[in-house]
Amino acid sequence: MERVADGVYQVKKGFRAFVIDGDEGLTLIDTGLPKRAGAFVAGIESIGRSVVDIKAIVLTHNHTDHAGSAAALKRDSNSALYCSAGDAPAVRGERRPIDPPVFDRTPLQILKPLLRLMPSADPAVVDLEIESGPVPHLSEDLMAIATPGHTPGHMSYLLERAGGVLFVGDAARHRDGTVSRGWFNRPTPDIDQSMRTLAERDFEIACFGHADPIPRGAGTAFREFAATL
Ligand SMILES: [Zn+2]
Repeated sequence: MERVADGVYQVKKGFRAFVIDGDEGLTLIDTGLPKRAGAFVAGIESIGRSVVDIKAIVLTHNHTDHAGSAAALKRDSNSALYCSAGDAPAVRGERRPIDPPVFDRTPLQILKPLLRLMPSADPAVVDLEIESGPVPHLSEDLMAIATPGHTPGHMSYLLERAGGVLFVGDAARHRDGTVSRGWFNRPTPDIDQSMRTLAERDFEIACFGHADPIPRGAGTAFREFAATL
């Protein structure tokens, strides 16, 4: 695992997910692709913790590269799984995840069948469907921020630590510190409002689903993008 901030680590294995080390145990933000629980276990053991120290698993959204190992990690740790009401049915396996919005458009529409070839996540029991606001029952001070667009129930999370650590899932990405809409997103009213919502918050560090973290000044980078909307 790579250290992002004090007690915050990135698991990077073709995806990015995050481990928050708190006084009462570990909180995971996302779980990567299916069959990758071992990458988390190895990382967690490298900081002197074990899988049973995971107390909560919090998902940004239901795509297989974020929710993929949720069922296995929840089972191995007996932890609670949190996700938004909008994305929970897909996490439970009641329906397919909603594809990201760029695939609504031609010519990319023809790629939609390829998405079906991605290994799907095992269904998992969602213990709590969360809404915007403080995430309950955690020892960490974690704020859920609804950022719909990439999926209808996409959530970002702001950790009150190190000047604020934002986890944006696939709502946004960056290149060399310049923030833009996430991969496979496009300028929809929902997505652009979500980018404005994030830009209103104060944070120093931002963590992404598909880019390395911005280690400082991340709030300014989001405000610079929002100013272009
Ligand atoms: Zn996604």
